Amino acid sequence: MAAPKGSLRPEVLNPLFAKVTALKGIGPRLAKLVEKLLGDKVVGLLWHLPAGLIDRRFSPKVSDAPPGEVVTLTVEVLAHSPPPPGNRRVPYRVTCGDETGRVVLVFFHAKDDYLENALPIGETRVISGKLELFDGRRQMTHPDHIVSITDIALVKRVEPVYPLTAGLSAKVLDKAIHGALERAPALPEWLDAEFKKQRGWPDWRSALTTAHAPADQEALSPLNIDRSRLAYDELLSNQLALSLVRMKTRKRRGRVFTGNGKLRAQVMAALPYKLTAAQARTLAEIAADMGSENRMLRLLQGDVGSGKTVVALLAMLIAVEAGSQAALMAPTELLAHQHFENLKPFATMAGVRLEILTGRVKGAVRAEIMEGLATGKIPLVVGTHALVQKDVEFADLAFAVIDEQHRFGVEQRLELANKGRDTDMLVMTATPIPRTLALTAYGDMDSSRLDEKPPGRKPVDTRTVNLERLHETMDAMGRAIQKGAKVYWVCPLIEESELIDLAAAEDRYAMLKVRYGSDVGLIHGRMKPAERDSVMEAFASNTIGGPKLLVATTVIEVGVDVPDATIMVVEHAERFGLSQLHQLRGRVGRGGKEGTCLLLYAPPLGETAKARLSILRQTEDGFLIAEEDLRLRGGGEMLGTRQSGLPEFKLANLSLHADLVAIASDDAQLIIARDSELQTPRGQALRTLLYLFEQDDAIRMLRSG
Ligand code: ADP
Ligand code: MG
Repeated sequence: MAAPKGSLRPEVLNPLFAKVTALKGIGPRLAKLVEKLLGDKVVGLLWHLPAGLIDRRFSPKVSDAPPGEVVTLTVEVLAHSPPPPGNRRVPYRVTCGDETGRVVLVFFHAKDDYLENALPIGETRVISGKLELFDGRRQMTHPDHIVSITDIALVKRVEPVYPLTAGLSAKVLDKAIHGALERAPALPEWLDAEFKKQRGWPDWRSALTTAHAPADQEALSPLNIDRSRLAYDELLSNQLALSLVRMKTRKRRGRVFTGNGKLRAQVMAALPYKLTAAQARTLAEIAADMGSENRMLRLLQGDVGSGKTVVALLAMLIAVEAGSQAALMAPTELLAHQHFENLKPFATMAGVRLEILTGRVKGAVRAEIMEGLATGKIPLVVGTHALVQKDVEFADLAFAVIDEQHRFGVEQRLELANKGRDTDMLVMTATPIPRTLALTAYGDMDSSRLDEKPPGRKPVDTRTVNLERLHETMDAMGRAIQKGAKVYWVCPLIEESELIDLAAAEDRYAMLKVRYGSDVGLIHGRMKPAERDSVMEAFASNTIGGPKLLVATTVIEVGVDVPDATIMVVEHAERFGLSQLHQLRGRVGRGGKEGTCLLLYAPPLGETAKARLSILRQTEDGFLIAEEDLRLRGGGEMLGTRQSGLPEFKLANLSLHADLVAIASDDAQLIIARDSELQTPRGQALRTLLYLFEQDDAIRMLRSG
């Protein structure tokens, strides 16, 4: 049976997509370690570039070997002196030498038979390692390499140094990567020929091989031609994948919605405040999108508290005015409820029926809502992913808002849109993202920024506190809750782990509980969502007997609104990313009361940690903080990548390769414009690129045509 067009990975890539156990020297035990570091496929090893190098080309005579340097010596094995029986503390010594002098090789806890085999008396051996002077004699402790003279070329070279994982030796990793490189095929060129020439970039395979065989420090720079090319390949695969997905969502034309403005005017008149300039501008941008024939896909970025909700509401009302429906999807039950509570008064005022649909809504109530959505009697709905369940139907869903979308995948976004016909989409995120990162995460999606806070917000008093003052801090929090304050206390880990110095939420909870009893609550990521929601609700709603101090892991980071929470304590603040800390801080001081943020840190602080904490003290501008975050840590782990859903790059460094992101974005758009099905020779090569970087969303899209 013929495979559908584009459904198969190009055969040329097969050797790279074998399991790592296919490599020589990687059995099941080592495979586990390799997998932990680089994934279970051979291709993962290719992306693991050297972080350093050791030059072993210097091979003097023994008497010329300078102490303190790495040397490769060719010597004869002269004598073995094992430690006295029963005394393992004395090292095993092997004396070697050449015609100029002697060197003693020193081994602690060595296996005798291993050394007898590796260093037979009378034989010549090549040894490499750092030479030391001890009691005036030359010695080498645990040489890095011991080989026979025929293998000298394997040792006397510039050796790449790879970042390691516990339990995986440099030699094993080196060999595995070598094996992976041998499997790397020559691939068809996917770069634009002119561009490649202009940059002076080598072919993919040559760039890869050279990047793994650095000859000098310059060869380790992410900005040299080899590494730049590899980074660009990765970025291009990312941009092309996004453009393909985007093309799909844009394929159908949008509908034109203008609305008569009546509902919006009613709500606007009822608002206890005026829209900020940023809100008004954003709303105009959305209205223009909806009024145009293009299908809308817009990102709305606004820091916590910037007033996204009301923008979403007014935008949804455009669809309702036009006689259609609008839906808002949030990632959690709790957030959905929060939106519902916030929107309800305004919807009621405008005489628009608003309902909520989550996993908890069951039975007759659910049936009624389903019916209302299917017939159009319910024009506005808020919910969780329950909204995209198979049996949910809309009469005419024209506008979909997705909140905190980092938690939703591309697929889920599309699912909601697919509930309607040519549905316009607004994606809201509370995490400000620098432009470079926005491009890699969303491609050329249109975007609006709420870069201005509603007036009257008081700055959060941000202070750094040495963890040595933990007890004082706990005392102070006790006094604060006596006075009616609500406090978050954030810890970086759920349970005491092998990293014993990491504050564990459960431990801290226990400590605070002893002092303040039922005033203390605990919430963490391993609780069931329903459990978590009920703790959060008790904290938020001033329930009698509910907690006033909430010990939490970072689950509270996104979106939850407790307006009268005023104090945020972050333990081991130095372990958090800048944007993460900013998000946490944004949880307090929202209700017009002044907020305080205490960043507890364990000294000594590294340079980066110091810079991070000081930026936080200086500004509350989320966009500025995001840019700084990117600069300080190069994008990878920023925002706590795992939670954020942002792409992680193996070869590209977003703070160093920002210019390449922009070029890749243009390149991808041009490719799509000229060859959207990837059918030309370059298109075919680009397919290989997408497979090489496992761009699954895009590949699926190509398959479905
Ligand atoms: P976000 O969802 O962006 O974090 P919200 O939409 O929850 O922010 O708004 C935060 C608070 O600011 C809400 O209490 C809201 O009523 C208020 N708010 C929104 N817009 C304005 C405005 N223009 N002026 C004053 N307050 C506003
Ligand atoms: Mg919000």
